[in-house]
Amino acid sequence: MSMRPEICPPPWIIPPRRRDVVTVTPWLAPVVWDGTFDPVLLDGLYRPRNISVAVTVFAVGKYIRFLEAFLQTAEQHFFVGFNVHVYIFTDQPNEVPRVHMAPGRQVTVRSVPSSRRWQEISARRMELIQTLIEELRNHMDYIFCLDVDSQFHGRWGTESLGGLVGVIHPGYYRDRRTKFPYERRPESRAYLAPEDGDFYYCGGAFGGQLQEVHLMAKTCRRDFEADARGGIEAAWQEESHLNRYMWIHKPTKVLSPEYLWQDFKSREPEIRLVRFSGVTKNYAEIRPNT
Ligand code: UDP
Repeated sequence: MSMRPEICPPPWIIPPRRRDVVTVTPWLAPVVWDGTFDPVLLDGLYRPRNISVAVTVFAVGKYIRFLEAFLQTAEQHFFVGFNVHVYIFTDQPNEVPRVHMAPGRQVTVRSVPSSRRWQEISARRMELIQTLIEELRNHMDYIFCLDVDSQFHGRWGTESLGGLVGVIHPGYYRDRRTKFPYERRPESRAYLAPEDGDFYYCGGAFGGQLQEVHLMAKTCRRDFEADARGGIEAAWQEESHLNRYMWIHKPTKVLSPEYLWQDFKSREPEIRLVRFSGVTKNYAEIRPNT
């Protein structure tokens, strides 16, 4: 009688029930989709560690109007039952809405200057994230950096934790990588060649452990500033630099587009649940320049 190797998983380990999407990268990072994790088990693993999660959100100029819904929906869906500290960067600290927060959750408001160019607001985020993390070291475990013009609609919790965490952009996840809007000019430090790249990641949501996000923010800021000295601005500002960084330093966890959808996009069959989504906005009306 021949001995057959054990190839079936033990019955108490249920493999991911998704066959319609990629659930692991070639460098063995999980790609998180609805149905690939057990939220109760994960929360139970992290709760005894009493982890704390920092969030950065920028609300400069007219974007202050998005803050209330962002904060309210974060209370309903983002790391519910865990310690969360939201850092709001705004040029209008007096206009920050008061939102009731559960015990263990709080908000800190930081003043930043206004700007006449939205590209500058977006670009300065990496610098402010870098300096915030330098202050927070030893006080927080994880950080997520999120766009304010977005709302939570479903659970975003411990399944998203990792060393360096990227979110797949909802606009390009079905495209070939030659179509990704990476920076294609070799003069820029955000350059990626047509044969490079894994996913196109969002600039509007990323995170991970403090030291990992610090290194990324510092590198993106340095490269963005070097580009500026050379008279070049990458196609999608810090998002382009983030994509270059994540090509070289692969994320240890990748979140599916459930974690940053766009309200104007119709739901595709593989998107069973939208957890966080950008609201539809009139750019000409809300940006200081178009
Ligand atoms: N932002 C801001 N004020 C502005 C422009 C941008 O506070 O006038 C911040 C805000 O947090 C926003 C983020 O920068 O969520 C990204 O900008 P935007 O949403 O315009 O970029 P998109 O994702 O639409 O390309």
